[in-house]
Amino acid sequence: MPTKNELKKKVCEEIERRADEIIAAAKAIANNAETGFREVETAKLVAQTFTRAGIEYRDGLAITGVKGMLNGNGAGPTVAVLGELDALTIPDHPQAHPETGAAHACGHNGQIGMLLGVALGLKGSGVLSSLSGNIALMAVPAEEYIEIEYRNGLRQEGKLSFLGGKPELIKLGEFDDVDMAIMAHNGTIKEGRVSGARGGSSNGTVAKQIEFIGRSAHAGAAPEKGINALNAANIALAAIHAQRETFKDADTVRVHPIITKGGQSVNAVPADVRMETFVRGKTIEAITDANAKVDRALRAGAMAVGAKVRITTLPGYMPMTANPELRDLFRDNAVSLLGEDKVIPIDPTAHAAGSTDLGDLGHIMPVICGFAAGAIGTAHGNDFIMEDYTLAVINPAKIMAMMIIDLLADGASCAKDVLAKNKPPMTKAQYLESMEALLKVEEYGDDSEDNPPEQAGVIL
Ligand SMILES: [Zn+2]
Ligand SMILES: [Zn+2]
Repeated sequence: MPTKNELKKKVCEEIERRADEIIAAAKAIANNAETGFREVETAKLVAQTFTRAGIEYRDGLAITGVKGMLNGNGAGPTVAVLGELDALTIPDHPQAHPETGAAHACGHNGQIGMLLGVALGLKGSGVLSSLSGNIALMAVPAEEYIEIEYRNGLRQEGKLSFLGGKPELIKLGEFDDVDMAIMAHNGTIKEGRVSGARGGSSNGTVAKQIEFIGRSAHAGAAPEKGINALNAANIALAAIHAQRETFKDADTVRVHPIITKGGQSVNAVPADVRMETFVRGKTIEAITDANAKVDRALRAGAMAVGAKVRITTLPGYMPMTANPELRDLFRDNAVSLLGEDKVIPIDPTAHAAGSTDLGDLGHIMPVICGFAAGAIGTAHGNDFIMEDYTLAVINPAKIMAMMIIDLLADGASCAKDVLAKNKPPMTKAQYLESMEALLKVEEYGDDSEDNPPEQAGVIL
C-alpha cells in the first residue's frame, strides 16, 4: 500500500505533466467570460475536459452547473471540489467580452483551472485505487450576486428558486451526496504573491430590489402635479445613512445601495426610480436588524413625498465560517508543497465583510476556501488580471489534490474524523426554510387616488 506522501507525489507529478493544458483552459475562460447562470461556453469547456479524461458527469444543473464524479476503491465520504464558473460585468476591463462586458475580475477562471487540475491529476495518476470514498468535481454557477433583475426574472419564471448557484444546487439536491466541500479563491497577495489558506469567517447578506413609484408631470410647467420618485429615493438614501451609527462594529454591517434607474426624461418628473442594495452582516441577527432599519428608511422616503415604494427582499448568502480541520489541512499541504515562508499565517479570527454562497454550504457541511495568489490589480476592479498561472492555478490544484489524499487515503479515516468533529449548524431542510423566510415583497404608499388605501402598507 503506497503511503500518503507517495500518493501525493504521484498526483502532483500528473498535475505538473498536464500543467499547460490546465493553464490553457483557465486562460480560455478569461478570454470568454460569462456572468452567472449564463456560463454556457465555460460549462461546455468543463464538460469536454471531463469527457476527454473519461470522467462521468452530469450537466445543466441549476442551468449551467457541471458535476463530475470520481470513485475511490472502497466506500467512504464524498469530498466536493468546487470551481465557480461566473464572471462580473466590467466593460472597461482589458479582457471584457466585447458584447456583454463580462470579465473575470474575481479570478473565477482560475478556480475552474484548479478544478480541472484536481480532476486530471486524480484520474490520470492512478491514486484513486488507494482512496476510500468519492470526489465530486463541481463547476458551480453564479457566485457573484449580480444582475438581480435578470435572475429574479428567472425565479419568477420558475427556472430558479434562489439567485446564487450553490443555494440553488443545495435546493436541487446536488449536494445531498456530498459530505464536505473545498475550494480556493484567487487574489492578490502582496507579500511575495504566495499561496495560503484563508481562515476565519465572512459576512452574509440579503439583496433588495426597490422601486419608487411616483407620478409623472411636466417638470417645468407643472411639477406640482407630479410625485417625484427620485426625491423619495434621495430621502431614503439619506435615511439609510442615518442608520449607520446604530450598526455595531462587531456586526460588520455593510449597506451599499445604488440607483439603477433615476428617471425617464429630464423634462418629466421622475415617476419610476429603482434601486438595489445588499444588507450584509456577520450574523443572521445582525442582517435582520439592519434590514428592518433599511426598510423603514425606504418607507420614510416614500412617505415624505407621497410616493409608493415596492421593496423586494431576496435571500442572499449566509455568513461563512471556515472549518478548522480543513483549513489546517489546506495550510499543511501548502507548506509541504511550497515551504513555510510562502504561506501566509492563518488568523482564525479574521473576518471578511464580503459574502460568498460557500457560507450557505457551510451551514449544512464542513467547508473551506483556501486562497491562492497569482493575480494583480484590485479584486472586482478593471485592473484585476491573472498574471502567474502557476501560482494561481497549478499550486492550489496540487494543494487540494493533496488534501483529498489526506482525507480519503487510509480508509478515509481523516475525512471521517472531520465529520465526527463537526456537526453542521443546520439540516438542509432548516437551511431551505430559513432562506425562504427571507423572501418578502412589501408595498408601502400613500392613499391618493392612484394608490388607494387598501394598497397602502400591504405585505404582498
Ligand atoms: Zn467576487
Ligand atoms: Zn470570487
